Amino acid sequence: MSREADVIVVGAGLSGLIAAREVLAAGLEPLVLEADERVGGRILTEEALPGVHLELGAQWIGDTHHRMEALAGELGIELYPQFEEGETSYELDGRVLRGEAFHSAYGEDMAGVERVLRTLDRMAAEVSAEQPWAAPHADEWDRITVGQWYDAQGLSPIARSMLEICTVGILAVPTVEVSLLGLLVNVVSCGVSADLLSESEGGAQTRRFIGGTSQIPLRLAAALGERVVLRSPVLQIEHAPDQVTVTCRGGLVARGRRVVVALAPTLAGRIMYDPPLPGQRDQLTQRMPQASALKAFAIYDEPFWRADGLNGQLISAPGPARMSNDSGMPEDSGGPGIILAFLEGESARVAGAWPQAQRQDALRAELGRHFGPRAAQPDLIVEGAWVERQWTRGCYNANPGPCGWIHFGQALTAPIGPISWAATETAAAWSGYMEGAVEAGQRAAREVIEVLT
Ligand SMILES: Cc1cc2nc3c(=O)[nH]c(=O)nc-3n(C[C@H](O)[C@H](O)[C@H](O)COP(=O)(O)OP(=O)(O)OC[C@H]3O[C@@H](n4cnc5c(N)ncnc54)[C@H](O)[C@@H]3O)c2cc1C
Repeated sequence: MSREADVIVVGAGLSGLIAAREVLAAGLEPLVLEADERVGGRILTEEALPGVHLELGAQWIGDTHHRMEALAGELGIELYPQFEEGETSYELDGRVLRGEAFHSAYGEDMAGVERVLRTLDRMAAEVSAEQPWAAPHADEWDRITVGQWYDAQGLSPIARSMLEICTVGILAVPTVEVSLLGLLVNVVSCGVSADLLSESEGGAQTRRFIGGTSQIPLRLAAALGERVVLRSPVLQIEHAPDQVTVTCRGGLVARGRRVVVALAPTLAGRIMYDPPLPGQRDQLTQRMPQASALKAFAIYDEPFWRADGLNGQLISAPGPARMSNDSGMPEDSGGPGIILAFLEGESARVAGAWPQAQRQDALRAELGRHFGPRAAQPDLIVEGAWVERQWTRGCYNANPGPCGWIHFGQALTAPIGPISWAATETAAAWSGYMEGAVEAGQRAAREVIEVLT
């Protein structure tokens, strides 16, 4: 079977769908080829119980995610605030301590964390998210890992542990796998405040979508109609200056004038390109691994911890979850209580490989330590793992390893002939988030529209 369009878009995640929508709005014909049997990619809402929507993938937007807020408004999807009231529970020195007790015991340690965050802010002010390799200290900062740099900051063990947990909460890999420059790029991309690496996650998680995040890609895809083709993994892209031929598993061949590849770099690197891409681009995609995270939702008849003055958040050194939060429904809905436990970086890799019963036993025990015996007896635990998903292979996103930005960073977004690159990893603002996926889709669409109209 063959299809023709002006612009072929590879991937019906948020970024690809946005690119296709912009192309269509400019009077050109897009065709979206999606490997999976559904649209949305790293966005996946599951109705675990009637009316109870769990976000196995992307869940929140932050106050400065203006593109996402506008998109939700346009698609008629309402937002509700993340529940935040009450104290966090900490387990960093063998004891479980609630917020106030923890902060009065470890005030000096937390001052050390604050000092490091403000140092990061000063360094980040030198870095541009579009051209990190051009920063005055880029060379020095891309050769040292975040872990090495944290170790050299004179922090107490508690402060160092807190920074590790919160940083892994963003990167989803151990801090020895990302360079200091890479971390600064994350900070700049999200608005030049290292508070992203604090307990508050820099305001990245303040609101959710009533009815679930998946409504966004589903509504975008519905508007594109038959221009979205599912179950069509792209295997090969043949390209000439003004022509592309895209071949899918199953035999579909799509011909167009431009192609937008809206995949995380590692997955983009698995497609065969003919002629082959420049070496610098392939070396980049060899060095941007998908990170490691697993979400586990513990579901209870009600959010009983709220009455106890707890906000459902834990910060824990032993794990298996290093962080959690209250993942309940809108407050007036009377829905069940839900605690979302995050297994990120090494926890996702180590505890993620345990038999499910062992992992869930450890998780129940941990929740019991923090939120009381009732928390150790959830009605149900639902897990969302991404590493086994063939078309994602890890999450939340990807960062280049040490020296990646200075040696290969320029290949991340630069078009090659008729090929443009989208996906959240290529965004300048809020890279790694849905907001970044939208920005990247819009930017890639602009690149092709400028040439074709
Ligand atoms: C567990 C989890 C939690 C998250 N939490 C948040 C959050 O709270 N807030 C937030 O803003 N962001 C969050 N994110 C990140 C957010 O989901 C992503 O930034 C965003 O969805 C990425 O969209 P994308 O279109 O760039 O990529 P993707 O969603 O990965 O889309 C790529 C698409 O390409 C398809 N594909 C892959 N290979 C091929 C191929 N060869 N041929 C054709 N199609 C192919 C895939 O199936 C997929 O549909 C989270 C992600 C995960 C996984």
